[in-house]
Amino acid sequence: MQLTRTPLAALIAAALTAGLAAEAGAQEVNIYSSRHYDNDTQLYDLFTEATGIRVNRIEGTPEEILARLQAEGANSPADIVLTVDAGRIWLADQEGLLQPVDSAVLEERIPEHLRHPDGHWFGLSQRARVIFYAKDRLENPPQTYEALADPEYEGKVCIRSASNVYNLSLLSAIIDHDGEEGARGWAEGLQNNLARAPEGGDTDQLKGLVSGACDIAVANTYYFARAKASTVEGLSEGVDQIGFVLPNQETTGTHVNVAAAGVAVHAPNRDNAVAFLEFMTTPEAQEFFANQNHEFPVVEGVSVGPIAAEYGDFNTDMLNLSVLGINQPKAQEIFNEVGFP
Ligand code: FE
Repeated sequence: MQLTRTPLAALIAAALTAGLAAEAGAQEVNIYSSRHYDNDTQLYDLFTEATGIRVNRIEGTPEEILARLQAEGANSPADIVLTVDAGRIWLADQEGLLQPVDSAVLEERIPEHLRHPDGHWFGLSQRARVIFYAKDRLENPPQTYEALADPEYEGKVCIRSASNVYNLSLLSAIIDHDGEEGARGWAEGLQNNLARAPEGGDTDQLKGLVSGACDIAVANTYYFARAKASTVEGLSEGVDQIGFVLPNQETTGTHVNVAAAGVAVHAPNRDNAVAFLEFMTTPEAQEFFANQNHEFPVVEGVSVGPIAAEYGDFNTDMLNLSVLGINQPKAQEIFNEVGFP
């Protein structure tokens, strides 16, 4: 008996000590994320090393994350909400799921147009939505988003469906720049120019250039970069035949979007959440976070990864990205009105 009781008591004592430690001060931060790469773990480990704050992660689709936050309400353990489109983080904010953060560090490091005006969310990496084309079939690719709707390109364009948030964000920006009527005309023209009924994601649009289904494809920059960096079947083998245009260089700049994060409205570890956001804007974290998905850092002076760097320097749209959310219902309405599939 003696032999078994001693280790058991020791175990209980150890468990109690651990429990107390957790209660008294073990630091943690809980992240609800709809962005999931294996490498994220490495980045979170760096944060833990630097701060002693442990990272717990819940991953899901944006819809799952939002539904979970709503269901949990004030009891939610979420500290950070992370999404991959300004339109989506805007939705979370609209639902009252985020709280304002006042951080001189974040305001200094993240350009104003890439964060919410009152600190409800912050862009952490940038991606551009650009025009790709089949170099051997198209001599004069469109140089602007507006030109995608020109009759000249009838039956040539592949783009994913109107329900996709990347397209809603793009149309939201067009509403701001060209007005509602302009945006409606654009959506109509683009619909006329479709090579086929929208199917699949951005990678599938690029594959359409290789298969010959279309001469023009609209996609985010990192999908093309991925096909260069690794083997994407149906795409990588034809990647050299694909050219790209960074649209609207002479006018509004190329449309960009962000992976963005904000502090959850009921965050139990608010200070840790702010520390996490600030850590994500250090040069070290920026480089890692952006490069793992061939995106562009938001913090100036941080180097761009080798494949994303092939896009060269370009002017980006300086529109505050909260507009992408504010105009989102209107964008959806316009797509519906013109019957964009
Ligand atoms: Fe994506």
